[in-house]
Amino acid sequence: MNIGVLGGGQLARMMAQAGSSLGLSFMFLCPDSHACAAPYGEHLCAPYEDKRAQEHLVKWADVVTYEFENIPLSLVESLQRQIPLHPASSILSVVRDRLPEKLLFHTLGIPTVNFAPVDSLEKLINAMEDIGFPAVLKNRTQGYDGKGQALLRKEIDLSAAWEEVGKAPCIVESMVEFRRELSIIAARNQNGDMVFYPVSENHHRDGILRLSISREDDPMQVRAKAKIISIMDNLDYVGVMALELFQVGDQLLANEVAPRVHNSGHWTIEAAETSQFENHLRAICGLPLGETSSAQTSAMVNLIGRLPVEAEIRNIPGASLHFYDKSVKTGRKVGHVTLTSDCSPEEFDLRLAALLQLAGEAELAGRKFFNSTPLTQCP
Ligand code: AMP
Repeated sequence: MNIGVLGGGQLARMMAQAGSSLGLSFMFLCPDSHACAAPYGEHLCAPYEDKRAQEHLVKWADVVTYEFENIPLSLVESLQRQIPLHPASSILSVVRDRLPEKLLFHTLGIPTVNFAPVDSLEKLINAMEDIGFPAVLKNRTQGYDGKGQALLRKEIDLSAAWEEVGKAPCIVESMVEFRRELSIIAARNQNGDMVFYPVSENHHRDGILRLSISREDDPMQVRAKAKIISIMDNLDYVGVMALELFQVGDQLLANEVAPRVHNSGHWTIEAAETSQFENHLRAICGLPLGETSSAQTSAMVNLIGRLPVEAEIRNIPGASLHFYDKSVKTGRKVGHVTLTSDCSPEEFDLRLAALLQLAGEAELAGRKFFNSTPLTQCP
């Protein structure tokens, strides 16, 4: 089968790498002349709006998907009228905008942080009476990796924050003191069959994911799974979805949904029987979904704004290195490393600390993630 992908970054690249074992071919529509997925298929280097490129893609592909949500909705709607496309444009229109996304959570009885929509400084000032400080102001659309967000500590911050987010429609939400950040990734096909990965425990710095730890048998797994089932069923979703969650005490609050493969699931390439990338392709191609079980402990560290010396990473037992062939730029994800092993928790912590040091994450490198008291089970 021929798969058309909107976008040509590292997620498209890893999708195509996974697709080769399924005998799939790829074409990427991506305006970036340095699209890092390009070596794995045909690259249509054109603006998303380019009609000839769209026609070419539709003629060639059997099914179209996308690697990120910040693509023009009108393009997805138009392609969907001509060719099978997953996840559907009606889903993208909900989850690419933080307001309908939060309203969906509420309709489904899934708790979130306290929030309010705002589209002027005056409305922001009024909303803060209910939301309270500290809070975070977020653009409703086009945000990723903490972009389009401003922290609100006190009254005096409001005007500058409103400027900072470009005076675009936003939501303002309470800043929560979470115990952990988690995500759950699942795949669903057209028959409504679903598979689930163990939750990932995620650690961010400056709004960017730095470390994901796969938590097999996590006390929050059952609750996280129930939430993603209700969202996917409600949307009649086809493909892989990630649901990002804040754990506050023993409660899980939904933060956002990614209608695509997700950075916190990169560890599945080495550690799960079927990776998130392969399961996404299976779902959109109407193939049976693959097993998600994993036998080993695993964690993933992002390489952001720097490339460590390859030999030093390769010295760490169980480390698998992925470079994305992207030029190094401050704050840019240029690769990741997955650590998998069935070694002792003490040894895993040591290896992970060495890896985090090489990735420039000194603060995280000083912590223990495996050799510590386990959390108790929650139904
Ligand atoms: P987001 O773009 O919504 O995923 O936010 C990026 C990161 O900022 C999250 O992964 C959290 O680490 C942090 N963050 C976002 N919203 C909140 C919030 N309401 N309370 C606390 N931390 C937040």
